[in-house]
Amino acid sequence: MSESDETRLLANVPDGLFIAGAWRPATDSATLAVHDPATGREIKRIASATVADGTAALDAACDAAAGWAATPARERGELLRRAFDLLQQRKEEFALLMTLEMGKPLDQARGEVAYGGEFLRWFSEEAPRIQGRYGPNPEGTGRMIVSRHPVGPCYLITPWNFPLAMATRKVAPALAAGCTVVVKPAALTPLTTLYFAKLLQDAGLPPGVVNVVTTSASGPVSEAIIGDPRLRKLSFTGSTPVGQKLLEQAATGLLRTSMELGGNAPFIVFGDADLDRAVDGAILAKFRNIGQACTAANRFIVHRGVAEEFARRVTERVNAFTTGRGTAEGVTIGPLIDDSAVAKIDELVRDAVARGAHVRAGGAPIEGPGSFYAATVLTDVQPGSDILREEIFGPVLAIVTFEDEDEAVALANDTEYGLVSYVFTPDLARGQRMIDRLQTGMIGLNVGVVSNAAAPFGGWKLSGLGREGGAEGIGEYLETKYTLTPDPA
Ligand code: NAD
Repeated sequence: MSESDETRLLANVPDGLFIAGAWRPATDSATLAVHDPATGREIKRIASATVADGTAALDAACDAAAGWAATPARERGELLRRAFDLLQQRKEEFALLMTLEMGKPLDQARGEVAYGGEFLRWFSEEAPRIQGRYGPNPEGTGRMIVSRHPVGPCYLITPWNFPLAMATRKVAPALAAGCTVVVKPAALTPLTTLYFAKLLQDAGLPPGVVNVVTTSASGPVSEAIIGDPRLRKLSFTGSTPVGQKLLEQAATGLLRTSMELGGNAPFIVFGDADLDRAVDGAILAKFRNIGQACTAANRFIVHRGVAEEFARRVTERVNAFTTGRGTAEGVTIGPLIDDSAVAKIDELVRDAVARGAHVRAGGAPIEGPGSFYAATVLTDVQPGSDILREEIFGPVLAIVTFEDEDEAVALANDTEYGLVSYVFTPDLARGQRMIDRLQTGMIGLNVGVVSNAAAPFGGWKLSGLGREGGAEGIGEYLETKYTLTPDPA
């Protein structure tokens, strides 16, 4: 990609709020700056919504609600399908845009376009499959009808780490179900959502069905929308503390809520594991997206008998990484999202080392422009280290060891989170026991990535409520209604 490709693409990204099918500035003309985390340079300025703009976006979603709910499911699905097709045509642009605003290597950004696009295709197919039930009551005196209806206007809040997929994972099921939405992307990476809204417009989106507010005042803008009695559903992906705060706000209107929150994934390698497979899985589960994924492996729990060999092999792989701007050929590790992320990871690594961990690779920030931290491997991480308790959200692979299965399970479950676990063993019976015993919403059994549009993504414990994707995903946007009528005979 040349610099002129980047300039042209950025010029094509809208810089306004998308409300009722039109692009417009914020009412007070305020803007916010978006930066390239690999260089620290500002790449674009866009509108920063006020509380009144947020309310205007909800007005538009409410105005469009009845019309969209009455649009035949097939038509709603076909809009999503056209959006999927357009995304395939524009995939290089979306990939580059994500690399520019978020930093991930271009190949991984292409992977996100493929993954994010699948939600458009999956839910285009789910829309016509919304079904109810009809049948006699047990007493034989009446007929029971169970029907499903769009829940109503939704507010969708997305994080910065997967700018496209986190938006499509919410927008697609909402639209398929017949709901209209206001989307609020993270202020750090809002450009992909704006470009996605433009794509939806090109696919024939009716005005007001999707509205986008970008803002540097997330708190007040969101509080007003969530507190508005017309809103019926809040779907949030982000950190657990912010999710908990929003759940409190949602309690007033008793909103339907979906919460995709933080993780602290265990990655268990048993003594009988195929180490080639486990190392490949570890590299993916840990370093994809520069470690900035809710599904990122956080704690490597490795059987004592293979721990040294596992550490040696992952260190060899990490030493072969190329770190740099995600647009450069061959780069495998891009920058972190900002300098505060670098500082937080540095603190976690220092704490672990002070408590006795050994640095086998990396172990420090990289000087120079941009927000880079060296890919790191730590062994002998001691119990009580912060890095075992907190979500790392960066390229640091921390290894602890275990002796037997019970100890592995106890270590894995020793966290308040419960999003995903990874388990490596060829022993089928052991794999099945782990499915029963691990307290997480998802398990990668001999694989390092589990995400799939056809699967119910979501967590237990402090990792969240509800599921996105799969047959379950559309149900989050539907209400159930039961009707009784007298037996016609
Ligand atoms: P964050 O909680 O800081 O922000 C998420 C979103 O909430 C952003 O749009 C942000 O602008 C907004 N926000 C922040 N404060 C708010 C407030 N007071 N009121 C309303 N909105 C507010 O999280 P982040 O740093 O953007 O993302 C990283 C976190 O997201 C990690 O914890 C990660 O595990 C989690 N995550 C979870 C999933 C999942 O599916 N479970 C997926 C991706 C990321």
